[in-house]
Amino acid sequence: MLEWITKHPASQIALVTNEAKLTWGVLRTESLKLAQYIHEQDSTAERIGIFAKNSKDYVIAVHAVHLLGKVLVPFNTRLTEEEVRIQLKTAKVDLLLIDHKIDLPVTQLLMTCRASSCFTGTHEWKENETMSLMFTSGTTGRAKAVQQTYGNHLASARAAEAHLDYRSSDRMLTVTPLFHMSGLSQVYRSAIIGSTLYVEPRFDVERTLHLIETEGITQLSLVSIMLQRLLDAGLEKHHLRTLLVGGGPVPRPLLEEAERRQLPIAQTYGMTETCSQVATLLPSEALSHIGSSGRAIAPTMIRISQDGEIEVKGPTVTSGYFEQPESDNWTPDGYWKTGDLGTMRDGYLYVHDRRSDLIISGGENVYPAEIEAAMFRCAGVQDVGVTKQAHPTWGEVPLAFVVGSYDPTEMQGILDSQLAKYKHPIAIYHVPDLPRNANGKLMRHRLKELLP
Ligand code: ATP
Ligand code: MG
Repeated sequence: MLEWITKHPASQIALVTNEAKLTWGVLRTESLKLAQYIHEQDSTAERIGIFAKNSKDYVIAVHAVHLLGKVLVPFNTRLTEEEVRIQLKTAKVDLLLIDHKIDLPVTQLLMTCRASSCFTGTHEWKENETMSLMFTSGTTGRAKAVQQTYGNHLASARAAEAHLDYRSSDRMLTVTPLFHMSGLSQVYRSAIIGSTLYVEPRFDVERTLHLIETEGITQLSLVSIMLQRLLDAGLEKHHLRTLLVGGGPVPRPLLEEAERRQLPIAQTYGMTETCSQVATLLPSEALSHIGSSGRAIAPTMIRISQDGEIEVKGPTVTSGYFEQPESDNWTPDGYWKTGDLGTMRDGYLYVHDRRSDLIISGGENVYPAEIEAAMFRCAGVQDVGVTKQAHPTWGEVPLAFVVGSYDPTEMQGILDSQLAKYKHPIAIYHVPDLPRNANGKLMRHRLKELLP
């Protein structure tokens, strides 16, 4: 039997949503009843998908699938029907748990259903057994189905406990979708550690501030665009112990503003393939290592290859993509090649950019993230994205897209003082919005679609 949700005091609060407050006892019973319902409908399904919005039933469904000993496959609800069809096939999903009926060629069960009795079967999860298949964010193209083992999830939660001091007394707020790693890992963490999990249907600035203030939220995980919006709306520390910011680089002005308000920002680096973060910069180290994503979280090891790629080895690293020969993702000595470029200084990791986003201009490496960070410093800039454009002389040059209005003279001054000439965007386009995915991540490969 999966002991995660059975070992915590039955009367303590496990889960809070805008619909309900559930104790561990109730969460356990509800999960066992949903498990029994699924078992009665189809006991042979091996991989069970979830296509739903964040809710209490989503969390119940995650536990139900694992109590049954089945593999969980979360689906991005923002995808088109066609994209979901492809992913259903890729992950060979046998059954789909849903919160509303959709037109897809797979057996669907409403996740609000329950049997009248609890599931009584047992399943012993083994370290190297695949527990979930999670699709990557698809930021750079088609999403890949990443296998995560029981051991991966366990190691990831234990690392948060040891490195970020997660405790059973914590109140963790999840405002990101549960179909991505940053959200789902909180479900596992709270169950393994016994902390209270708050799940919101979506990121809403006012509601997030309200929960932080009134519910004494201690742990919150965000991407930097969300942090920016919270800061603009007056975010204060209250009981926050860690504000985990990941998924991409955090612009320096944001860090400085957060520091002024004494917000405990922990910048973090990780990916679906490493089951959440593998490096974290602790709040106490933030100002002495601006721009860094911190040290590797032991026992995970991080190194930089000769051509600058970040490579990772440790207990949270995936066993590979689902049913794909993965030989070219590994080095001969067992490190995972992340596809990200970075440097390591005094044990601190600096993530530059994705290998595929790197701009090589006249033989010089130009990182879009560095240009974006500089441009963000200009007053009035609300959002900025940089991509590359082919150029007859330089090979490639940077091209910028900006949301907001600013003083061009100030922008030029910032570019001149912050960036070498070859890093200056060849053109700056004003656009109403940038293409960001469900997690708020910039999809750089789609920026060019904004060209007039
Ligand atoms: P896909 O692989 O489908 O293109 P994705 O890589 O965005 O999508 P995720 O696994 O959700 O999918 O994101 C992990 C990636 O996010 C990392 O490989 C890295 O490129 C980026 N990232 C994460 N943390 C940071 C960070 N602190 N600084 C810079 N980039 C980061
Ligand atoms: Mg990726």
